[in-house]
Amino acid sequence: MRRRRVPIAIVLVAVIIVGVISWLRTRPLEVPTPFVTQGRLQVYSLDVGQGDSALIITPEGKSVLIDAGPPQAGDEVVAALRKRNISSLDLAVATHPHADHIGGMRQVIENFEVKNFLDSGQIYPSNEYERLLRAIKEKGIKFIEAKKGMTFDLDSGVKLVTLNPQGGGEWITKVRAGGSVENANSVVIRLSYGNFSMLFTGDAETETEQLMMKSGEPLRAQVLKVGHHGSRYATSVKFLEAVSPEVAIISCGAGNRYGHPAQVTLERLQQAGAKIYRTDLNGEIAIVTDGNKFEVHAAKQPVQVALWSGSAGVLACMLLAIALSSKLGGRDGRRSQRRRI
Ligand SMILES: [Zn+2]
Repeated sequence: MRRRRVPIAIVLVAVIIVGVISWLRTRPLEVPTPFVTQGRLQVYSLDVGQGDSALIITPEGKSVLIDAGPPQAGDEVVAALRKRNISSLDLAVATHPHADHIGGMRQVIENFEVKNFLDSGQIYPSNEYERLLRAIKEKGIKFIEAKKGMTFDLDSGVKLVTLNPQGGGEWITKVRAGGSVENANSVVIRLSYGNFSMLFTGDAETETEQLMMKSGEPLRAQVLKVGHHGSRYATSVKFLEAVSPEVAIISCGAGNRYGHPAQVTLERLQQAGAKIYRTDLNGEIAIVTDGNKFEVHAAKQPVQVALWSGSAGVLACMLLAIALSSKLGGRDGRRSQRRRI
């Protein structure tokens, strides 16, 4: 009887440990990742929850903000800019007028000098968007309506080229059932610096991807900011072939109600050979490049890697304990047998 109790206790402990690990594995672990920024191009995918916001800082200190997350992320975006000693933005971009992209933008405009504002130019009657347009006008910010083929030369040869919307009154109006015209007409930007390039696709889905592929514009990019928070309706296999990304960044909120990112999109990215980073798991994600090589630094590491390797060790120890206890039990047995004799 006593011999059996030891393994049962060990099994109980194992069950508790596995339970705790399964609970912990969804919680990210903060890992500080210091890196050199001086004289390099930096791109930060900010941790804004369910939304999108990316900050570009050029080697000579020019700055561009693409989207500003949902309204509740305004403080986060302002803090991210302050942390990098930014006092003015050379360009702010609203890829499209949905709240999860422009929500924090008014706060940005109120806190920083914005020199130019690039907008998709769509008519969208929301209070949030109308208030933003009014604020841009009141501050006298230069308002630029985006259309494909625009080039913004920053410094050190850093360049932004717009690939969408089409411009000249041409809009994508046919979208899938349940799709969004605003998403389809997102401003899409290709950033390039030396041999490095990165694609920012806003919430564009397949119909926009097809149009961009048809245009013949270069789409290849080492880093892809994945379209529409990793929705299943974006990031088609053909588009991934054209972009051929080494790294994919998905901006989404933990446990969001849209189910972003879709499993099928994650699989397509994996099959394309892209290493996936997600703001819901990795927090803020930084890309740093000298125009040749690039590095990715995530603020948080998903905890399962450390925990699963730790748990493997724990399980190995437990197996050893079981083996030892049964050996000891065996010896006890022999002793008691001897006593009986
Ligand atoms: Zn969105």
